Amino acid sequence: MAAIKRLLKTSAFSSSSAIPCIRRCLSTAAVSETDARLKSPSYPHNSLPPQADPKGKNVQWVFLGSPGVGKGTYASRLCTLLGVPHIATGDLVRDALSSNGPLSQQLAEIVNQGKLVSDEIILSLLSKRLEAGEAKGESGFILDGFPRTIKQAEILDEVTDIDLVLNLKVQENVLLEKCLGRRICSECGKNFNVASINVKGENGRPAISMAPLLPPQHCMSKLITRSDDTEAVVKERIRIYNEKSQPVEEYYRSRGKLLEFELPGGIPESWPKLLEVLNLNDYEDKQAAAA
Ligand code: ADP
Repeated sequence: MAAIKRLLKTSAFSSSSAIPCIRRCLSTAAVSETDARLKSPSYPHNSLPPQADPKGKNVQWVFLGSPGVGKGTYASRLCTLLGVPHIATGDLVRDALSSNGPLSQQLAEIVNQGKLVSDEIILSLLSKRLEAGEAKGESGFILDGFPRTIKQAEILDEVTDIDLVLNLKVQENVLLEKCLGRRICSECGKNFNVASINVKGENGRPAISMAPLLPPQHCMSKLITRSDDTEAVVKERIRIYNEKSQPVEEYYRSRGKLLEFELPGGIPESWPKLLEVLNLNDYEDKQAAAA
């Protein structure tokens, strides 16, 4: 955490022309033994890469996945289980947006068109978040929504060693519905989803059902919808994900760090299966017993 924070924080990141300079300076860094071993791996992409076993350490994981797939939901649950911070760049952007600071207007325009914020702005928000975390003694992390471009992935690679990149997937035809069903409680900040998804299996595609994730009664009257969760903006975000972020999947696949996880349904079906592939299936019970 300290290394990633120090390097991301360097003022050189405030101008894009400085990024190649940092990369040049760091390019002589030794490739770790694990990285070298994994450069041409033949491990199956649906099982846990050997270096990623979370037992007994603070994980450094990245979550990838299209808008609406549920990255935030699963990342946040895993963070609670593993005791590491959940760092979602989308949340950092929304915080900056609502703070009415100098960036606010600029960010609103970008986010409400479904576009990506510049690397410089994202790195600056991320470095501030990491700095605050370090001051609180945080270690390990799950990054959600970062990196989203090859350039961001290269920068991250230069500053720290990621153990695992979890690529969450769900049939593309449910993504829009899931985004449009998202609701946030304006008081407690928790995320819910009012969409009830039932897609029949056809053309070799399995059927999929996801029950809504409804809020408790006391949140019901305080629900809000994200300003970028409109049909046109979600479609644009999915298009941009496919164009800019899907190459990031390949970037990590070729480095032996990608674990693909296809959601079989809603949280009750997906969560236990996810714990199983992450080798954490007995973890929840142990944590509960230790508490
Ligand atoms: P999504 O549901 O589309 O995955 P997020 O909450 O992760 O949404 O992000 C919301 C918005 O914040 C994005 O559409 C984008 O404008 C901006 N954003 C978040 N993370 C990044 C990033 N790593 N790089 C550039 N822009 C980002």
